[in-house]
Amino acid sequence: MGSNPTLSEMTLNSPIEENFRLVDGQRKALKKLGLKNLRDLLFYFPSRHESFSERKNIANLKEGDKTTVYGKISNLKMNKSWKRRVAMASAVVSDMTGTISAVWFSQPYIANILKEGDKVALTGKITRGKSGLYIANPSYEKISSYEALGEGSEILAIYPETRGVTSRWMRFAIRKILQNLEQFPADPIYEEILKKYHLPSLKSALIFIHTPQKLGDAETARKRFSFEEIFFIQLARMKERREHDQHRSFKMDISEKELKDFISIFPFELTSAQKKSIGHIIGDFGKTSAMSRLLEGDVGSGKTAVAVVASYAAVKNGYQVAYMAPTEILAQQHFKSFINYFSQLRLTTKIGLITSSECKKFPSKINLNDATHISRAQLLKWVANGEIPILIGTHSLIQKSVKFKNLSLVIIDEQHRFGTRQRAVLAKDKSEKIPHLLSMTATPIPRTLALTLYSDLDLSLLDEMPAGRQKIITEIIDPEHRERAYEKIREEINNGRQAYVICPLIETGKIETKNVTDEAKRLQKEVFPEFEIAVLHGRMLPKEKERILHEFRNNEIQILVSTSVIEVGIDVPNATMIVIEGAERFGLAQLHQLRGRVMRSTHQSYCFVFTDSSSQKTSERLRALVSAKSGFELAEYDLQFRGTGELGGAKQWGVSDIGMEALKNIKMVEAARLEAQKIIATDPELKKYPLIAERLKNQDKIIHFE
Ligand code: ADP
Ligand code: MG
Repeated sequence: MGSNPTLSEMTLNSPIEENFRLVDGQRKALKKLGLKNLRDLLFYFPSRHESFSERKNIANLKEGDKTTVYGKISNLKMNKSWKRRVAMASAVVSDMTGTISAVWFSQPYIANILKEGDKVALTGKITRGKSGLYIANPSYEKISSYEALGEGSEILAIYPETRGVTSRWMRFAIRKILQNLEQFPADPIYEEILKKYHLPSLKSALIFIHTPQKLGDAETARKRFSFEEIFFIQLARMKERREHDQHRSFKMDISEKELKDFISIFPFELTSAQKKSIGHIIGDFGKTSAMSRLLEGDVGSGKTAVAVVASYAAVKNGYQVAYMAPTEILAQQHFKSFINYFSQLRLTTKIGLITSSECKKFPSKINLNDATHISRAQLLKWVANGEIPILIGTHSLIQKSVKFKNLSLVIIDEQHRFGTRQRAVLAKDKSEKIPHLLSMTATPIPRTLALTLYSDLDLSLLDEMPAGRQKIITEIIDPEHRERAYEKIREEINNGRQAYVICPLIETGKIETKNVTDEAKRLQKEVFPEFEIAVLHGRMLPKEKERILHEFRNNEIQILVSTSVIEVGIDVPNATMIVIEGAERFGLAQLHQLRGRVMRSTHQSYCFVFTDSSSQKTSERLRALVSAKSGFELAEYDLQFRGTGELGGAKQWGVSDIGMEALKNIKMVEAARLEAQKIIATDPELKKYPLIAERLKNQDKIIHFE
């Protein structure tokens, strides 16, 4: 550690290396964190703040706490764990109130880095082991004394640590920057908004977040930065939307009578929510600007039927439709349902399928009721000359080689599975006119996140389940009652029903939990010798998967043992039972999606949840699955009780941890939305807001991800 004493004025763009003397490890670590210049450091925010007055005494630690323990090291040891025989380091930490062990699995070298008598700050999770509480794999920071650690302040910023740069170095470096910075960056959020929502200016917020005098300051600063992020995401989306609306699209008309006739091919009455959504879509088709619509409905609410009707309208107008699904299995299934519906029309509408492993066309020349394999080149030719009006597929659909003659409608199924960029590519055809966009999702995300991420889309809600569905019975089964669940399954299969069994792994792996391969064998041999049992997972060949699904659909297979690949979209109404093994390994929203596989018939359906974990938290969380009525409710639960981390965060949604904090606060999200709307409505070119315009230009990096 050390600074270059000759430099006193620092500028935002100057490289970190020119301002601080770095050792190799620090250089590497900073590079890994993507921190190059002083601006990067200044905007590298602490993950949390700690107050000395509130810090936990060792005597008060509880299982599950994520905390920092301050104390003195003794009993340093390097040894092997008795269970897995991995090398580890252990130590005892003590303060005035008590002692606790610290254990570093697979990091025996730590025993050489720390020394007996060292004063340290250890940050990690308090875990219960055989011989009491210990702090597991904590990050560590050597401290000379608590005063030195506090650096004069009662509140300490704790940064997300990487091997090589400590929180302590971060605090030192950033404090230096704050003191010597020639000029703070200009604030892109103007004063009127700051005043209205009681937010600190950028300069104060930067000082508050890195060197707060009290916890309240740090909170105020975090609030400002999370508002800022949510505000800019929404602004960017709204601006994109405005630009999108300026492109012309394909005007498509369809008569009431034609619609009615088409809808009569469904073997069921559409729900009024489905009819309303179809009305929205047909309304959009009648305009000259392109539709950007999100069809949001819980699993099993019948989104496919709406998509089929929309596709029909496009085809009827002589245009082409592209329908993209996130998995091959799902693309296959949609291909089948489209064939099923369209073949009833006796229109012989040609339908194509494109995935990375195969291409198909319906109808086959030989058999008009069946599809046939064709070469990719042939399919692409027919798509390019407009002979195939409906093309269904996976990611393969958006490769450059796929060219349409007159694509007027793009449908994206389970759109939360795709990144933003993929949506944008598909929706922005190079030609002058752009196609209408229908995105579909069972978005298992909270309302605040939906408001933020989808602020550029119009919404149609399928808030009503098809008639006659029975409420699913969800049961959390403890190990002693496994047999009873199996008996129930046997009874239902004997009544003609079918079941899924979901395991977290395909084969035995590092973690101790059920795997598809062994579980299928066990069930066949020990539990259900009388039934046909098969496996389905992502490592099987597409042909094999298709065959298995086909047999399952025909009830030639009664029990399908699978991984969560079946989570999205699979629709076999006669399968009314799902067993989920190792349930603690899945997120609540994901469990709900899995459960959605069996909520699609008029028969009573069951979800049997097995868990290997006996922790209090797991059982509380799984109980929410029993009581929640929708995926949205579960997403809210995950948000409120488990935190934003459970929603996948930055990687999945393109929202940073601090931005995610805003999502717990609907008022803040709505305020950001309101202000963004005002700006776009009054000054869409952002002429009066050069700082905002500049920020949006650099923002693409944040909101678009691969
Ligand atoms: P999701 O919204 O999850 O994509 P699907 O479109 O797969 O749902 O539909 C689920 C099941 O419900 C399918 O078997 C479908 O045929 C059936 N279905 C759709 N709409 C209705 C309806 N109005 N009445 C009865 N069944 C319906
Ligand atoms: Mg679906």
